[in-house]
Amino acid sequence: MYSIAIDGPAGAGKSTIAKTIAKKLGFVYVDTGAMYRAIALYFLRKGVDGKDKEKIAELCPDIQVTIEYIDGEQQVFLNGENVSHLIRTEEVGTMASLTAAQPAVREALLQLQRDMAKNADILMDGRDIGTNVLPNADLKIYLTASVTVRAKRRFDELKAKGVECVLAEIEQDIEERDHQDMTREIAPLKQAEDAVLVDSSDMTIEEVADAVIGAFYRVKEEAAK
Ligand code: C5P
Repeated sequence: MYSIAIDGPAGAGKSTIAKTIAKKLGFVYVDTGAMYRAIALYFLRKGVDGKDKEKIAELCPDIQVTIEYIDGEQQVFLNGENVSHLIRTEEVGTMASLTAAQPAVREALLQLQRDMAKNADILMDGRDIGTNVLPNADLKIYLTASVTVRAKRRFDELKAKGVECVLAEIEQDIEERDHQDMTREIAPLKQAEDAVLVDSSDMTIEEVADAVIGAFYRVKEEAAK
């Protein structure tokens, strides 16, 4: 079994790149952000403050997140309900960033994520995959891009969906989320020592995918020697 870990900040293009690479290599793609988003949705629905450590720890045992693949696409279920189409909003993303800093939330997802890597070749993306979830991954990528480029990509994505938005506000949200994810106590976002740094600011999706696939083949060749 092979595993590839891709970590990086919000809007770096992890999921687009990961999906492309997983398809090319025939790997299963695991989007761990979706799991944190599903839990965030639970707390939003309950009206829980995302910083309320005690309440969050108390409610975590009531939450069950499961993953299924339908037509090759990852679907995330929250207590049996498919919430995949409800978790892509900025509100859920911001709540996910808050609640993902809570130990009870991270504990709830760690084993599920590790188990998924046991039975298939997987490509997993998130914030702490190379540093924490899969420390022995065969290849670790830290994918980033400048804040300006990430904000512009997000802006274009929302515009294409017909959502009214302001570029400066998106840039500010991204900076706040980066700060929150990078400075939290448990499993903060950081580049693993043995990760390959890829800055996608001036690269196309295809160029990034080719760079990662090239790195993976080199790892495989080395292992075969
Ligand atoms: O990647 P995505 O934007 O969907 O992730 C939402 C939030 O979930 C992130 O801002 C981060 O706080 C959290 N997350 C995490 N660890 C992961 C994946 C996501 O803490 N492995």
